Amino acid sequence: MGKASRDKRDIYYRKAKEEGWRARSAFKLLQIDEEFNIFEGVKRVVDLCAAPGSWSQVLSRKLYLPAKLSPDSRDNDLPLIVAIDLQPMAPIEGVIQVQGDITNARTAELVIRHFDGCKADMVVCDGAPDVTGLHDMDEFVQSQLILAGLTIVTHVLKEGGKFIAKIFRGKDTSLLYCQLKLFFPVVTFAKPKSSRNSSIEAFAVCENFSPPEGFNPKDLYRLLERVGSPSGADDLACGDLRGYDSDRSYPLPKDADGTYQSLDPVQPPIAPPYKRALEMKKASSHGIKDLEKPSSDS
Ligand code: SAM
Repeated sequence: MGKASRDKRDIYYRKAKEEGWRARSAFKLLQIDEEFNIFEGVKRVVDLCAAPGSWSQVLSRKLYLPAKLSPDSRDNDLPLIVAIDLQPMAPIEGVIQVQGDITNARTAELVIRHFDGCKADMVVCDGAPDVTGLHDMDEFVQSQLILAGLTIVTHVLKEGGKFIAKIFRGKDTSLLYCQLKLFFPVVTFAKPKSSRNSSIEAFAVCENFSPPEGFNPKDLYRLLERVGSPSGADDLACGDLRGYDSDRSYPLPKDADGTYQSLDPVQPPIAPPYKRALEMKKASSHGIKDLEKPSSDS
């Protein structure tokens, strides 16, 4: 698919480049905020699975930059945003980056260290495994990422805080709903308009963190296993961002001379897992045969 063709078929891809977002996912968080007002009263946030960084950009633009530019701003009172991903990410103003695996207990410790005794007001998690196309398998791996996110939540989120997490809808969605309900009295599954209907993703918006009395984070998995799986958990559509529908094609805006200029991505990933494959493809198209040895930076 050519760049202009994707610009036409994917309005949010085009808008992301126009507005300087690194990924179209930015609109999902913005649309969740339109419905749930998630940024209200928030000063400390953890962004799990953050690369290439469009959610961190939203957090920076919505929380950090307005506070920094405010005439009463004080350096020791600025919002704290900590972003974690397996992949490295180009810097974003006001965002501290931690490279790590959220399923690893050490990562939670690294995050906690940045909060210096204070807890976070919100944890967001847009994590997604590499999808296999096997629906049940993808849903299972995704649910493991959410539970890893929930483990971090139980260590860093303050009581009353919020947790926003990407889910894959499937046969175990209601089980996940009940597990989240153990910790949050209000759990809503939302489908932002920028998330295509054809995609199984949705977002759990969990409000008012209230762990069970006497809860010890060490007991998390034992507690989750005890949960049954009644029905419930319908999606709530959200996002009215000028009414764009992610499943529709839109005509491209033309320049004065009647042509359309497609923009480059705002910030390509700096070390994508597919980098080596791209290098090999490029080399083979230049007739270079011997690429057996990995390059030093792969
Ligand atoms: N929210 C991001 C944004 O707006 O730019 C997009 C996130 S992308 C859909 C999913 C990310 O999850 C990938 O960058 C991937 O590296 C990360 N991820 C997957 N498994 C992870 C894990 N176990 N620990 C940390 N990051 C993980």
